[in-house]
Amino acid sequence: MSSRPIDKFRRNTAVNLTLRFALIFVLCASALFATVDFLLARAQLQKDQQLISSFLESYQRLEQDAGLHKLELVIARDAPFFQRSEMYVELFDSNGNSLLLIQPEDWPGDALAGGAVHARDDEWYEVAFTDSKARVLMRQSRLSDGSRVNIGMSAAPRETELADSRALVLSVMVPLLCLGLLLTAYINWRALRPVHDLIDTVRSIKATDLKTRVRVRDPHSELGELAHLFNQMLSHIEQLITGMQHSLDAVAHDIRTPLARMRLSIESALSDPDEKALREALLDCAEESERIETMLRVLMDISEAESGILSLHPEPIDMQALVIETIDMYSHVAEDKGVSLNLEGDEAVSLVADRVRLRQVLGNLLDNAIKYSDPGCDIAIGWQQADGAVLLTVTDQGCGIAQADQSRVFDRLYRADKSRSEAGMGLGLSLVKAVVEAHRGTISLISEPGRGSQFRVSLPLTSGAA
Ligand code: ADP
Repeated sequence: MSSRPIDKFRRNTAVNLTLRFALIFVLCASALFATVDFLLARAQLQKDQQLISSFLESYQRLEQDAGLHKLELVIARDAPFFQRSEMYVELFDSNGNSLLLIQPEDWPGDALAGGAVHARDDEWYEVAFTDSKARVLMRQSRLSDGSRVNIGMSAAPRETELADSRALVLSVMVPLLCLGLLLTAYINWRALRPVHDLIDTVRSIKATDLKTRVRVRDPHSELGELAHLFNQMLSHIEQLITGMQHSLDAVAHDIRTPLARMRLSIESALSDPDEKALREALLDCAEESERIETMLRVLMDISEAESGILSLHPEPIDMQALVIETIDMYSHVAEDKGVSLNLEGDEAVSLVADRVRLRQVLGNLLDNAIKYSDPGCDIAIGWQQADGAVLLTVTDQGCGIAQADQSRVFDRLYRADKSRSEAGMGLGLSLVKAVVEAHRGTISLISEPGRGSQFRVSLPLTSGAA
């Protein structure tokens, strides 16, 4: 039979954990059991020692007060108790002759004679029966006239009691141990279910299908959080891959047009090879290749900004100065279009950011506002400081953006249908968003078709600082 199921079982984390818990469980239970057993044995031994000692003390007093003969009578009177309790009592006179021997009836007459003696301490010793494993705990006491009395007690009742206690403890402990193991196995299996969900999901993911998500069983646990983060990562990857596919399609589409135009110019120049036609064809080609180059450069900038590798050069910037500088660059375009640019800012606002990139952000927003406004419209550029951030707004009274397009205008190469007549590549707002986010800022849009749009950029005061 194949050993694979066994290997799989051995590699299973839940099984491994359960076995380790089982080992710890058994070790702890054994240590507990050994301690309880030791304490019980000691308590029983002490109880027997106390009984023997109390007899010896009372016999010593009796012999002192009433003499050896009286003691002999009393011991004989107590004989039934000693026999019942498996006790041994022997009285010797001062010459060492045995005067009286009391022991259980079932003990052989010379049970202890010649038995091995094992001293426990100065006072106590154990005598083993000559013909069996039974032992007797003994103590000897010298009396005032030189006589002595030995009292012993069989270890058998103590050992029986101890064996009963052990059986009781084991009968409770073993089922508890089994129950504990079953519970541990169940808890481990339950705790590791999210990990198996994760494994199943990862196995089922294909490059072309990133739709599968991990089931989040308990969102408040670490594994629930891991599943949630993993799902977030999948969504992010899916979004990136979809975005890349769209960008690739759009780039292919947008590059195909200028390339086709270049080919047409070249072909028509070749069919009519006079100098003027050749010059025009070359000029067209230079224009189209510049357009392709610009598009690729902006796409690279966006990718760098989005992936966090765009290098920023933060420096203190006076907002008013930056806005005026940028407006100067667009004043001719605005004038040609017949729109007016108005400043609505708080003079004292400054922030730390990359000057070139920030000018690019404002320039793109301004360029769009002019491009999509009709002659005679006003464009307002505002800036103010609020809640530790600088809020920059560009408001126009242009054609506005349809609700359906508002969420897509920040996508790469996206252009609303109405804008097709205007020059542009559909990359301006993507670059603006990527640069703003690289500065840890946000951009939002409020727009009403036919009435105008407002782009709101919020940048932390030290947004560009490392
Ligand atoms: P484009 O080069 O087409 O202007 P952008 O990325 O700058 O590319 O803008 C994307 C689209 O968003 C534009 O094609 C246009 O449809 C819309 N848009 C951007 N700014 C404005 C605006 N101020 N008013 C109306 N539409 C706008």
